[in-house]
Amino acid sequence: MHELSIAQGLVDVVTAEATRLGATRVRTVYLAVGRLSGVEAGALEFSYDLVTEGTLLAGSRLIIDDVPIAIHCVRCDAEHALPGVNRFRCPVCDTPSADIRRGRELDLTRLELDEPDDITSSPGSSFSVSSANPIS
Ligand SMILES: [Zn+2]
Repeated sequence: MHELSIAQGLVDVVTAEATRLGATRVRTVYLAVGRLSGVEAGALEFSYDLVTEGTLLAGSRLIIDDVPIAIHCVRCDAEHALPGVNRFRCPVCDTPSADIRRGRELDLTRLELDEPDDITSSPGSSFSVSSANPIS
């Protein structure tokens, strides 16, 4: 399962960051997941529970922030969010666009950690997703 290896990678990155900061426990992990990232949120949450067992992340919450797709339209000279994943046309003027600005991300955006003091970290780490992109 694709999500299992992503969850494992996430645990590795978070563990490294938490260890670096001297945290004893990870409380909450915030992840931005683009709709084109190929990651299924439900499967990732399930995998997360499995791979966090026995780690600093055990019992922590995974908050997945769904990132819609946004394209840049040359005609409008503006960025527009798309309502779905099947139609790469400007929602305003209907010009086709392959210039995708958002929606592919798989980013660790925030961590909430326990000890020594309450720490909030914004490592800004990015995962590169190796899954095939369905549209390019
Ligand atoms: Zn447009």
